[in-house]
Amino acid sequence: MARSRGQGYSQRFGAKGFLRASPKKRQTEATRISPGAFEQPYRFFCTLPMPDFDLLVLGAGASGLMCAATAAGRGLKVAVLEHNPNPGRKILASGGGRCNFTNLEVRPQDFRSANPHFVKSCLAQYPPSRFLELVKEHKIAFYEKAQGQLFCHQGAREILNLLLGLNQKGKVKLLTGAQEIQVCHQKEPSLFLVQCSLGEFSARNLVVATGGLSYRSLGASDLGMLLARQFGLKVTHTRPALVPLLYKGFTPLAGVSLPAEVEVAGRSLTDDLLFTHQGISGPVVLKASLFWDPGESLQVNLLPGQDLNPLLLEAKASFPQKSLSKTLAQWLPERLVSHWQETFGWPTKGQLQNFSHKELALVAQSLSAWSFVPQGTEGYAKAEVTLGGVSTQELSSKTLEAKKQPGLYFVGELVDMTGLLGGFNLHWAWASGFAAGTAVS
Ligand SMILES: Cc1cc2nc3c(=O)[nH]c(=O)nc-3n(C[C@H](O)[C@H](O)[C@H](O)COP(=O)(O)OP(=O)(O)OC[C@H]3O[C@@H](n4cnc5c(N)ncnc54)[C@H](O)[C@@H]3O)c2cc1C
Repeated sequence: MARSRGQGYSQRFGAKGFLRASPKKRQTEATRISPGAFEQPYRFFCTLPMPDFDLLVLGAGASGLMCAATAAGRGLKVAVLEHNPNPGRKILASGGGRCNFTNLEVRPQDFRSANPHFVKSCLAQYPPSRFLELVKEHKIAFYEKAQGQLFCHQGAREILNLLLGLNQKGKVKLLTGAQEIQVCHQKEPSLFLVQCSLGEFSARNLVVATGGLSYRSLGASDLGMLLARQFGLKVTHTRPALVPLLYKGFTPLAGVSLPAEVEVAGRSLTDDLLFTHQGISGPVVLKASLFWDPGESLQVNLLPGQDLNPLLLEAKASFPQKSLSKTLAQWLPERLVSHWQETFGWPTKGQLQNFSHKELALVAQSLSAWSFVPQGTEGYAKAEVTLGGVSTQELSSKTLEAKKQPGLYFVGELVDMTGLLGGFNLHWAWASGFAAGTAVS
């Protein structure tokens, strides 16, 4: 049993094992572990006769809840430690509150990672159809939006309730308000020892499921990466992804939205683009941000699926006295046309007949192959995910167990496996949580 100062287990955890944080308790944004903090094992741990749990999971988000439910479903004694007062806050915020919980087709090419093939084993164990079965079993109404993306009709709360229900069924102890988590490992017998504001806990296995660095407002912290480094595991370079991009000079276009095709790092992505006060956003830009590296250019076609040059030549032949701007406004928002006109210096009221074929080709090129270098991203505060994380080289692709430390697992967004917009990140969270929950013994 967990040891705390002056309180009995049932008093602290309640009949169902759910503990809520005192609202007065201070929330720490990121748990910093001072160097050397783990050099000495805690003295009290050395005398433990039996571990409290078979498995301790750090983080009650998508991957942690899936992992805990899976392990508990196999009869293991499991506890989850979460620093927020409530579990699953990112799940609730996902998909604009409707949770794009998976995609009908999830493939390695939907991810960016130093090794995208790493995802294959987890996907084979837990394909989208497995999560869909669960959703259907729980009678959650869902619909397919574009490109195989599955969303809940009623809202993300239904997905969170599904996971909490499975955890409750497996008698998982879900302990919220767990601040200042520290971990150490005892060799003989092998035990993970966790100390936090709720007390001290021990388990034979530890799954770190504390997510990425984006959206600190929802509970993100760097604990998982600190723990990986503490156990000698490599963490790849991290940065915000699925994030709006910064580009000065388009403020007058803020609010304009249109379909666009973006080419980035040899990929072509098509979806809606939104001009913002800071630059560009919208699904196609969020997707492109996953593959964009700082300093690289993007090429944007603002008229995807149409060949503008022949259209302009045809218009010139049929309506020579029509202005270029009116002609373009047939296919593009007027605000965008007039801004492009100012930016690229076309005569404002120029009739089509006054433009040479070469000039029309340049106009077409500026709209269908607009190339520019974004100045950066809007950062972790606006990023749906973190690119990079615990190196896949350090983990078993089948179980997510650390090669250097038996019994220690890293799952979910914390791992260097980042998906496109479209349900891929939550699916990775389910699949990796399931793989670890199946493997722990
Ligand atoms: C606004 C938004 C919308 C999104 N929409 C979608 C979508 O529709 N579809 C999709 O596929 N993906 C979506 N994502 C991404 C997706 O939510 C994440 O990739 C996914 O939740 C990752 O799961 P995880 O378990 O790794 O991390 P999380 O779900 O973030 O869970 C990590 C948990 O660990 C806890 N934690 C962190 N630090 C500590 C600590 N120090 N001590 C204790 N606990 C800690 C956190 O509070 C959290 O509960 C969205 C993300 C955001 C931000």
